[in-house]
Parts: sequence; structure tokens; C-alpha cells
Amino acid sequence: MARSRPRLRGATALAALLLVGATTPPAAAAPGDGIGDPYFPDYGNTGYDVAHYDLRLDYTPDSDRLRGTATLVAEATEDLDAFTLDFLLDVDSVRVNGKPARVERHGDHKILVTPARPVRDGGQATIVVKYGDVPSSVRWGDSGLTGWNRTPDGAIALGQPEAAWWWFPANDHPLDKATFDVRVTVPEGYEAVSNGVLTGRSTVAGRTTSTWRQDDPQATYLATLAVGRYDVHRDTTASGLPVYNAYSEDLGALAGPARASIERGEEILEVQEADFGPYPFNALGGVVAAPEADLGFALETQTRPVYSHAFFARGSNTYVVAHELAHQWWGDHVSVAGWRDIWLNEGFASYAEWMWSEHEGEGTAQELADHVYHLYPADDPFWQVTPGDPGPADVFHPAVYDRGALAVHALRTEIGDDAFSELLTTWQREHAHGNATVEEFIALSEKVSGRQLDALYDAWLYTPGRPAAPGDAVSTRSAPAEPASWDAISGTHALLHRDGHTHHH
Ligand SMILES: [Zn+2]
Repeated sequence: MARSRPRLRGATALAALLLVGATTPPAAAAPGDGIGDPYFPDYGNTGYDVAHYDLRLDYTPDSDRLRGTATLVAEATEDLDAFTLDFLLDVDSVRVNGKPARVERHGDHKILVTPARPVRDGGQATIVVKYGDVPSSVRWGDSGLTGWNRTPDGAIALGQPEAAWWWFPANDHPLDKATFDVRVTVPEGYEAVSNGVLTGRSTVAGRTTSTWRQDDPQATYLATLAVGRYDVHRDTTASGLPVYNAYSEDLGALAGPARASIERGEEILEVQEADFGPYPFNALGGVVAAPEADLGFALETQTRPVYSHAFFARGSNTYVVAHELAHQWWGDHVSVAGWRDIWLNEGFASYAEWMWSEHEGEGTAQELADHVYHLYPADDPFWQVTPGDPGPADVFHPAVYDRGALAVHALRTEIGDDAFSELLTTWQREHAHGNATVEEFIALSEKVSGRQLDALYDAWLYTPGRPAAPGDAVSTRSAPAEPASWDAISGTHALLHRDGHTHHH
């Protein structure tokens, strides 16, 4: 995600904070316990592993009516008498392995499913959920959170960490990645955009059906659905990737700057492949949302990031594109094991903006580090947030991004460019399509560099307060020059701090 304001969760955030202090996990997991995330203890589910989601959806923009059949191909990881799924919409029926199952609401965002026959440990569970609802009518928590962003001509399913709850039942945690087939029927004249490759599109009796295939593992929060009136630009990269970029027809004067940014995706990808290793997926693209969606953020939804129009209000902005495309490696290909590991996503995606700036000749990473370091005086509360363990209320705090990028730069200058480069590509190779923790990254960095780096990581990731400046001469400079890229990088930041609250409604 780029530059959203911190998400406050009222009672839930408080409950999560209190639980983080608890040290003894429950002896045996029960349905609804959650997958074990230290920040969001009731997110995700235990007892099964989803391999594939098959979503067959029918959506009518005028009424915001969504009907769906979700088939989850799962395997039991323990004897299952009952299990939970994260989901907020009204459910009509559930079948497990062909037989009708009992379903009831559970907790504040789950359904509890009791199969007619228990599923044994290691057994296959094919779960079919039929549902229908008006997702915009469903709000969650004290703040009325939604991951369903309405527009005048449709909606966009988008949010982090919560988004699936408003459009498909899921084991909603990055630890349970799966492949996806998404088939969406909408009125003729509307587009329905999801992740991966568009494998079919046909119109029958005034209804258009699009089928999307994501055949690399994908975390549930990285799945998206955008329905509306879009100008679509399709292409193929030199390396053969199908490109699908969708621009809201409501962008007006912002359509030019948006295209001037998103259409440089192939070029940005080539630069990032040199830094991070081969692009991990088989499709590329983006969606630029209608102004009325009022997103206020961008999200790295797999192969197809979604961008608020606001990023392009001041002209083209390739930096937000570099940020979201970097996430395809940092977050999507190698995903967090828990939300505490968010620095692995946002620290590196933010640093990728600095690397892109260096490539574009608009300021070196060192110049950006100098500038950002001096933006925040030593007594600024900014320095009290520790990117290695920011706490559930500060997962998207600016410090996770800016201090997080400074931490990456401190590492790079400490171990040198050669070891840094080897570290980034080795990390991607060793955790391909998997999950990993900050601790594992620290261990690999020490192995690759042959250095003991405790002091560096303690200072930059885990200790409140401003560390010594990273790099060479920076400490002696009081007012470093502002790099040319800083306007684009920070302009969206400031803008989104005004607008960002709106997606909480
Ligand atoms: Zn991000």
C-alpha cells in the first residue's frame, strides 16, 4: 500500500494491543481462533489450507447487488468437525464435499461451518458457498470500515488487511496463499477487472462475462475486483507478459498524467528486475479508480495494482507506480508471515522509489536519505515508531515507510552495493511464492554479507529515537538540498494525509 494514513480500529485495535502482551498461546486451536497473527489474532482461520478459490460472480452496478458462488478447494490440516471462514455478506447455503452443511455467524466477521461429516486430517474439503448481498450496506467495527469502495458506475474491492470479507469467503491471512479463478458477469458496457490473465470475455443477452486467472499463489488481500466504465489499454511486453491497464472514464484531465505514469510500467519493471530478480508473475497492469471512489491510497493487488486518482492530480507520478510494482516482489511474491513483518513490504517498496529516482537522475538514494533524515527532527514523535515492530495501530504509520526506507539505506551503505544486490535477489529466490519474517531477512543479510548486524537493526528497526544518520557525510549537513523527485514522492504523501480517512467512512 502506498501512503495511507494509519488505520485506527477502535475497540479491535485496543483488544489486539492487549492480546499482544499475552505470551501463552492456547493449548489447542478452536474454530474461530484465527491463524495466529500477533497483531490481529482473530484474522484467518485454523484447521485447513486453501489451495484454490473459484469465484463465479454476478454484479449489478445500479443496485450494488452481488451474487456469488465461491468454491474453495482446501485440505484439512487437523480433524475438522467445524471450521470458520472470514466473511461478512449474507450466505444462502454452504456445502462441504457435496453435502449441505450448517452455517451460522461467528464473532464479528466470520461464519462457522459444520459439515455433515467431519473432514479428517489430510482430507480434501471442497467448500461451496452461495451468497448474495449489497456489499456497500455492510460496514464493520466501530469505525464502519469497508473494503468495498463504491463509485457512480460500480465498485472496487480493495483494502488492507481487510478486503475479502466484502466479496468472497476466505481464509483471510497472507499465510494461506492460493490460486484464483474469478468469473464476473456485469451489464454490457461495463468492465470487470481482477488479477492475472484475462482468459475470456463474452457478451450474451446484454450481460458481459469476464474470466480472470491468477495461477501463481496469491494472498487474499491481494485479490481485487473493479467494476465500472473504464478505458482499457491492452498490450504485450517485450518479454511476453500480457498488459491490461484500466482507466476510469471519469478521470477527466487526470487521464493524461495517469497514462503517462502507468504506461511506463514495463520500463520500471525492467529496472526492478535488475535490482530484485526476475518478475515473479505472468501478467502486468493497473487500475486507476474514479475520483468518486475516494480511495486516497494505492494497493499492490497482485499483477494489477489499484491507484487512487489523487496520485496524478499534480501531474504524472511514476514513483507511486515504482512503489506498487516493487511490491510485486516485496509483499506479493514474498509475503509477510504476520502483519508485524510489514517493514518487508513498505520499507522496500518505499526504497524502490528512491532507487527509481536514482535511475531517473532525479536524486540519488543517498540524497533522498539525507533529505528524509533531516525532515524529522530528533524529538519528532515520528522516531518513536519502530518499523520492525510498529504495533497493530501503526502498521501503516509514515515511519514504517520513511524510517523503513532509511533502514534499508543504512543496511546498503553498511554492507556495500554488491552484498546488498546479492541479498535482495537471494531473498526473492529463497522465499519464492512463500512467506517470511523480518528475523529471517536479518539472518540472511548477515549470512550474505558475512557481517554481524545486530547494532544496525536494533537502532533502525527496534529502538525508539533517531539513530545516527546512514551513509557518508550526512550527519554534518544541516539542510541538504531537496532532490528533484521529492515533490512527487512527498506530494502524494501530504495529499493522502488529508484524504486518507475517507475510505473508513
Ligand atoms: Zn506500499
